[in-house]
Amino acid sequence: MTQESNVVLVTGGTGLVGSAIRKVLETAPVDSEFGKKAGETWIYVRSKDADLTDYESTKAMFEKYKPTQVIHLAAMVGGLFKNLKYNAEFYTKNQAMNDNIIRCSKEVDVQKLISCLSTCIFPDKTTYPIDETMVHNGPPHHSNEGYAYAKRMVEVQTRLYAEQYGCNFTTVIPTNIFGHDDNFNMDDGHVIPGLIHKCYLAMRDNTDFVVWGTGSPLRQFIYNDDLAKLFIWTLREYDDPKPIILSVPEEDEVSIKDAALAVARGMGYPVENVKYDTTKNDGQFKKTANSDKFKKLYGKPFEFTPFEEAVKETCEWFKANYENARR
Ligand code: NDP
Repeated sequence: MTQESNVVLVTGGTGLVGSAIRKVLETAPVDSEFGKKAGETWIYVRSKDADLTDYESTKAMFEKYKPTQVIHLAAMVGGLFKNLKYNAEFYTKNQAMNDNIIRCSKEVDVQKLISCLSTCIFPDKTTYPIDETMVHNGPPHHSNEGYAYAKRMVEVQTRLYAEQYGCNFTTVIPTNIFGHDDNFNMDDGHVIPGLIHKCYLAMRDNTDFVVWGTGSPLRQFIYNDDLAKLFIWTLREYDDPKPIILSVPEEDEVSIKDAALAVARGMGYPVENVKYDTTKNDGQFKKTANSDKFKKLYGKPFEFTPFEEAVKETCEWFKANYENARR
């Protein structure tokens, strides 16, 4: 197969990560480090293009586009409260989507498949920092058991397909992601988009900006435009069935309180007025991940967007796109 005929299919192409991959590729010059290769076609699909929980629908999509590479992002995704409420559905839907994508990729001889895990799937009781070898070392936190086990099985299935069929399939493990095109729903979404939406409403309605929980849990947040570049690097450079953590360094971990204050500043809300509802669940206290494997393989410093700047850009995006944003 010549390079001219390469077709890269991105599932979940309209989501937080998919839209950032598209933005980065469309901004970077062709053949540059994070740009398209000459002659390469990128296709971004969403649920209306194919229901990936359904094998026939998934297979028809693979036959239509004949991808040579696949970045599989599509997933049922959500924050703590959505996971607690729909744990069974998280398992069933994600497991079905992942299995269909892996099977179809093998059936049409996809040259490379990258599937997406998450640091949320690691054991609840563990030592820190966590690394790529520790995914299966104990049960995940109960709050997201369905999501976690479905994702863990992707790691297993990917390695087994590499072993038995020689497939060039791999998995990546991002930490908490945020940025433009996120789901800003306050009940179902992740922490940063939820905080941005809450702060927006507090300012609009002249009410309190209340953060759920104590603000003390720690997270490594990665901006979606930065993660998009790391995905493009993985596609070009990383050919190993074993997972790789894609994250900001451990020392860039911040508390939920730090994140809330960055949101307040990004939105122009007085930080001294931020309140905390400590009756709400804090979730896992931390999940510090070690990204030395990426650092070593990348071989030069990766310029992550400073957290405060990335939060501000996301706040600006939300304000400018309030009418059409997922919320
Ligand atoms: P989003 O929720 O932003 O987007 C999900 C995408 O999946 C959408 O394009 C959606 O399409 C598509 N999708 C959902 N269900 C189906 C289905 N049944 N059939 C086809 N497509 C479907 O996800 P993110 O960009 O946040 O997540 C990307 C990946 O990163 C996921 O695998 C997630 O598990 C992982 N991840 C996310 C983290 C985060 O903080 N967000 C952290 C770590 C990992 P539509 O809009 O049409 O429904």
